[in-house]
Amino acid sequence: MITRKTLHIPELGSAGLDIPYFEIVGNRDGPQLTLMAGVHGAEYTSIAAVREFIRDLDPDAVSGRIVAIPIVNVPGFWARSAFVVPADGKNLNRSFPGDPNGTYTEILAHHVFDTFIAGTDYLVDLHAGDLPESLEPFSMFEESSVEDISRGLAVSYGLAHIMRQSAAVRTVAGSSCAAAADIGVPAIIAESGQNGLLDRSAIDRHLAGLRNLSRSIGVLDGAPWPERNLHEHEGWHWLRTDREGWWQPVVVTGASVAAGELLGTVSDVWGDVFAEVRAPEVGTVLFLTSSPAVSADGLLLGLARG
Ligand SMILES: [Zn+2]
Repeated sequence: MITRKTLHIPELGSAGLDIPYFEIVGNRDGPQLTLMAGVHGAEYTSIAAVREFIRDLDPDAVSGRIVAIPIVNVPGFWARSAFVVPADGKNLNRSFPGDPNGTYTEILAHHVFDTFIAGTDYLVDLHAGDLPESLEPFSMFEESSVEDISRGLAVSYGLAHIMRQSAAVRTVAGSSCAAAADIGVPAIIAESGQNGLLDRSAIDRHLAGLRNLSRSIGVLDGAPWPERNLHEHEGWHWLRTDREGWWQPVVVTGASVAAGELLGTVSDVWGDVFAEVRAPEVGTVLFLTSSPAVSADGLLLGLARG
């Protein structure tokens, strides 16, 4: 049976914040799979995939339980905010496990973590490139006591690139999957889509991943596809600009680059180039900022090692 539920967080805003979610309880025992999307409110392909996955789901094919939150960052969705929660400008995916006595985003993270992440058997947090971001599809998991299971989730999701983040050099701290890993919940972040576009092929890639992953852990009937040969990466470089400027990449997402290869330039408003951005080592471009306007310390490009 598919039930529509709402998480009400009374302390957020004057009337409290409501986060709608689905709960599907199967007729047979099985694990709990939790799906989150819209932690970044303008990554529409991820939101669309969770909506469609649940609406197309046959509850009789479910063993165990699926909990699915199509839009976690509800205020960010309505405000069309890239990356952040509007009330305090913080990135929810840098704020887990949250703080019940913190700012708006930290309180939101706390309730989402307590309600949806703690106690589940598996977590998939769906993302895409945000409004100013181009992206090559990839999955990400964390070094942890359950990382073999997390890697298996990433493999079954089937996106062409898989990123393993070591605990010592977490490029992304406070993410949903890092917080989950820290309490022993196998988790991945799955990225497909870019630039705020409701791209059909990117949604379908998410949907195929969700169905195959659900089958591989036995929460959904049906045989998973044979394991695919995917490109696995051990860590990455997030390249930034010191000064604000006009960022102009010369590579595209998915490109394999050599050590020292030019990735793009940053120039001032007159057009004078003040920085050439080069690959620190051999790598693959998994995302890049597609908007030329970058602020001081702004993120330019994510280069996966290898
Ligand atoms: Zn995101």
